[in-house]
Amino acid sequence: MPSCPNINTCRLINAPLDFVSGSDIKIYRRIYCTTDRFSGCRRFQFKQKEGFCPDFVLPDTQESHEDILDRFDNEPDN
Ligand code: SF4
Repeated sequence: MPSCPNINTCRLINAPLDFVSGSDIKIYRRIYCTTDRFSGCRRFQFKQKEGFCPDFVLPDTQESHEDILDRFDNEPDN
């Protein structure tokens, strides 16, 4: 079965973020990262367009692309 091409570099999976539980990461991996559903992952989609993906974006994030960009631009560290 295909898996996400970002699986070895994606921070959600490889540098677990403190606002996402380990059990949620396991679920995301099972639903998106290790299946052909990776193309529906918002992190995958955003990175395809922008070349990067902010940490706060999750595979099932509902915010629009523009809202994600605005939120990223307004984060204090960016
Ligand atoms: S969270 Fe999304 S971008 Fe990251 S490895 Fe999984 S499917 Fe790929």
